[in-house]
Amino acid sequence: MSAGGAPGSAAREIDAARGRVREAGGEALLARLEHLDAVRAAPAPRPGPSPRPPDRGATADYDVVVAGGGLSLLLAPLLASAGLRVAVLDRARIGAAHREWNAGTAEVAALSASGLFTRDEIERLVIARYVEGLCRWHGGGTYPVRGVLDHAIDAAGLLAAARARAEALGVTLLDGHALLGHAEGPDAVALAVAEAQPGAAPRALSARLLVDARGAASPYATADLLCPTVGGVLTGLSEGDGERRIRPDVGEILATTEDVEEGRQHLWEAFPGRPGETTVYLFYYARSGDVGPGALLSLYARFFRLLSRYKEGDARLVRPTFGFIPGWSRLSAAPRAPGRRVRLVGDAAARHSPLTFCGFGANVRELAATAADLARAVREPGARATARDAPVHSGTGALAALMAKPVGGARAGEMNALLDTAFAVLHAMGNDAYAALLRDEMQPADFVRFLRETAARRPEVYREVVSALPLRAIGRWGAGLARELYRAR
Ligand SMILES: Cc1cc2nc3c(=O)[nH]c(=O)nc-3n(C[C@H](O)[C@H](O)[C@H](O)COP(=O)(O)OP(=O)(O)OC[C@H]3O[C@@H](n4cnc5c(N)ncnc54)[C@H](O)[C@@H]3O)c2cc1C
Repeated sequence: MSAGGAPGSAAREIDAARGRVREAGGEALLARLEHLDAVRAAPAPRPGPSPRPPDRGATADYDVVVAGGGLSLLLAPLLASAGLRVAVLDRARIGAAHREWNAGTAEVAALSASGLFTRDEIERLVIARYVEGLCRWHGGGTYPVRGVLDHAIDAAGLLAAARARAEALGVTLLDGHALLGHAEGPDAVALAVAEAQPGAAPRALSARLLVDARGAASPYATADLLCPTVGGVLTGLSEGDGERRIRPDVGEILATTEDVEEGRQHLWEAFPGRPGETTVYLFYYARSGDVGPGALLSLYARFFRLLSRYKEGDARLVRPTFGFIPGWSRLSAAPRAPGRRVRLVGDAAARHSPLTFCGFGANVRELAATAADLARAVREPGARATARDAPVHSGTGALAALMAKPVGGARAGEMNALLDTAFAVLHAMGNDAYAALLRDEMQPADFVRFLRETAARRPEVYREVVSALPLRAIGRWGAGLARELYRAR
């Protein structure tokens, strides 16, 4: 792949980044990165070719087909243990983690409460625990918090265990099969599926329910925000005290090392894992329409160029992980399934926090409820999902939308100044409130108090909101918050 016309040194940096990802992750992983980047070349992924819809009374090959075997693979054994005939397909290998996950106590507990794993099995998948987490802003302060994102999970081990459980329960696993399109009939959905090899002929499958778990690649993943994220597991970072060193018992949740550059407020995070290893990510929030082709490789080039600004040491990337995480601001229409026999789950549905983008945590917390909803939808297509959006999302989405369009030039420091004020307020509100916001549990009244106190300390926020968000979005934000305040009375 060429560097897309990037001038001299930028093109060389992108080529070097490509080489480092290939060296650490292999050719197949680099191909995956380039595929993700290429998908962004289309303004929005379009639904693929449609097969003929099944006739009335048609019997389906499976009760449920889960298209996308990433995190949502966890649903398959739960659906199979409910007595359903289940298939999972993925354009790559099912259950091959290309992520590293950190999560809180509630998520770790939800994994065993779902019945999928015992507590001991989950315990073995926790590879590190932290005494606290930090958020730190360039030119501002450091704000510790306890009880949030304080476990590092062995993502590869978790998905490998889910895959083994699915196989043992008779789930059909179709590795290397991409879903191209579907057509819904009255009693079943026909799926056009192709082996992910050039020239492979599409094959037909049918299901009573299609679960679209293709993440950001789903044509129905229409959420308005996107968080390009790159990085991975590093060795060689210096350990010790001080901002530019890693403490194995502390997770860095959000950190900035400069003001807005290239129209983006870049953020870092760092989570120690196994001894000597730390997962480090670089990411930014963007409006989904503003993220073009090549976004991940360009971000990797920045990652390698500026990592030493964030952390000291002789860093070596040993496992690259990356992706696009969709986010829904709640200021625009929600992603919606295209029919009664299709359900969106995970990133495609984007019901997780638009502020933290913690899709692993949010989906795992809802795992058992989602599986129960899907099992019901097989019998009663069109039944309403029971899960309700966390009330705080109606407030935090606007903050994420604000961060997705930061102002540069002479005002490039405003985003850090605003974040610093907001986190100073949260910290002053106490650990319970601070942790509740990051865990999606803050009550609407506390959120309004947080906004009021932030505005009192930084009155410029009114101008910043008005210049970044259209009036209609501000109206929706206010209405959403008012609705949640009313419900919480
Ligand atoms: C780098 C990174 C780090 C993250 N870290 C955290 C974290 O620490 N904590 C946290 O809470 N969340 C984290 N997240 C978010 C979390 O990983 C996602 O929210 C979660 O994986 C979403 O699960 P999913 O099943 O919807 O999609 P995914 O896990 O992304 O899986 C989607 C699958 O669909 C497949 N696919 C795509 N197109 C097709 C097709 N046409 N046909 C068949 N299959 C297809 C893909 O190959 C992929 O396997 C992170 C995300 C990224 C990108």
